[in-house]
Amino acid sequence: MAMRLRNLILVLGDQLDGNSAAFDGFDRKHDAVAMHEVRQEATYIRQHKVRLVLFFAAMRHFRDELIANGINVHYRAISDPENTHTFPLEIADKVRRLDPHKLIVVRPGDYRVRQSIVETCRNLGVELEIREDRHFFCSPDEFAALSEGKHLILENFYRRMRAKHGMLMERGKPAGNRWNFDKENRRPMNAASKKMLAQPLSFPPDAVTREVIDTVDQIFKDSPGSTQSFDYPVRRADALRALDDFIAHRLPNFGAFQDAMTVGEPYMYHSRLSSSLNLHMLHPREAIDEAVQAYERGHATLNSVEGFVRQVLGWREFVRGIYWLHMPGYQDMNALQAESAVPAFYWTGDTDMNCLRQAARGLVDHAYAHHIQRLMVFGLFSLLLGVVPRKFHEWHMSMFVDSIDWVSLPNALGMSQYGDGGIMGTKPYCASGNYINKMSDYCRGCRYKPTSCPVTVLYYNFLERHQERFQTNPRMLFQINNLRRLDQNTLLRFRREADTIREGLA
Ligand SMILES: Cc1cc2nc3c(=O)[nH]c(=O)nc-3n(C[C@H](O)[C@H](O)[C@H](O)COP(=O)(O)OP(=O)(O)OC[C@H]3O[C@@H](n4cnc5c(N)ncnc54)[C@H](O)[C@@H]3O)c2cc1C
Ligand code: SF4
Repeated sequence: MAMRLRNLILVLGDQLDGNSAAFDGFDRKHDAVAMHEVRQEATYIRQHKVRLVLFFAAMRHFRDELIANGINVHYRAISDPENTHTFPLEIADKVRRLDPHKLIVVRPGDYRVRQSIVETCRNLGVELEIREDRHFFCSPDEFAALSEGKHLILENFYRRMRAKHGMLMERGKPAGNRWNFDKENRRPMNAASKKMLAQPLSFPPDAVTREVIDTVDQIFKDSPGSTQSFDYPVRRADALRALDDFIAHRLPNFGAFQDAMTVGEPYMYHSRLSSSLNLHMLHPREAIDEAVQAYERGHATLNSVEGFVRQVLGWREFVRGIYWLHMPGYQDMNALQAESAVPAFYWTGDTDMNCLRQAARGLVDHAYAHHIQRLMVFGLFSLLLGVVPRKFHEWHMSMFVDSIDWVSLPNALGMSQYGDGGIMGTKPYCASGNYINKMSDYCRGCRYKPTSCPVTVLYYNFLERHQERFQTNPRMLFQINNLRRLDQNTLLRFRREADTIREGLA
């Protein structure tokens, strides 16, 4: 009679780390790994082809690394005729065939997936152990304790994380005696800084990835985007090279131009590390340590390095904490009672508004837009238009290479759409076309003028619609007072134009 398996380790597509808690105590003789490419996960929302290729290619490379290490891997490929295409059925199949004593999984990055695994194991009567995810600095329990009885804001959380983990700290104080260098980090691009730009290292597909590309092009031919220029890291070794490349060539200017946008440059000085981090090919500690060492050896300035550490140790951990603290209710929050759908051009970039067209170009080609494009172009326009926050998040999940529920939801629904009514941030990120004109060269190539374009029209209309709510928020007073300076005729014109824009996009 075949011996029963001791533990079956379930490795999800965003858990590609051989040192994760799932492998603690792993015994090659008695344990095995299960990995699944299932259609349900690839279609529960439409997905950009680049995102699909990234996941499947990275999973297959990780599988090969495990096998090379003598680990028994039960891998179900998307094109396998026996694939049942759902996690519950695939798990049931493994449990039936391998009869493990226990299933082990690291906490999934998606509440829906965690519930589904818990339920499946309960129905099958098989023991399930969910292990905490060591990829992160702050566990959901620690975050809940820090939030107890107060509204935890990013700045306080971030300072605690810096102090606790000794990152950029000098004799108990923040390096440079300041926690925050945001003021130095708001430079727009000019011709000279544009010339200095270095493109991120490109990782042309190898044979394994090319096979995935063919499969995705065949099975998911109606999905958005194209696989043609796929060049993301799909192996840990390449993710480490991508990190070195960022530290060497873009980190020194990361801070100064963090909020800038410019025509034809999807990456600017950004790291393009989010997909490697989110699939756990790279540990955030590795990224932070390299950045801090670059500061210590004088290669990068403090404002750049602090800006990067703030993103990774601050924002990234903070949004995850918010996600687990507030799920499942969080996903349906809609504080401003928005009602609109995501505009059709968000999928294609087919619009005469240059800011949105430019941001969508990188998105359609690479499934990527940098933070300010996400927040102050796509996010801003949706907020002003009144897109249902969950719909905006679902669009984001579809189109971005790095989107996972725990990180997309608080950023998209919370930070950018104010759907959570102020949990993520104390005010909505709303601005007129003048902001985009200040931080980019988009308006120069646009058929509209920033003082009267759709962004500006919708901005004043947004303030007018929500002035009662925001007039008591001290951080919104400046904007509300500006609105109140407008004469009635101008307000009426903006109202009519806003209605026309909405009708045109419906
Ligand atoms: C509407 C909206 C949706 C977003 N959805 C996602 C998402 O699904 N996945 C995702 O990884 N990031 C998301 N972000 C955060 C951020 O925009 C991306 O992490 C970043 O643009 C990825 O590109 P990069 O690696 O070049 O980042 P860089 O600008 O180089 O930043 C370095 C790293 O910091 C981390 N980081 C920075 N800001 C954030 C943040 N707000 N939340 C979490 N991590 C952060 C990322 O890991 C990133 O790789 C979203 C932001 C907005 C405004
Ligand atoms: S003028 Fe308005 S619509 Fe055109 S690029 Fe500038 S902000 Fe965007």
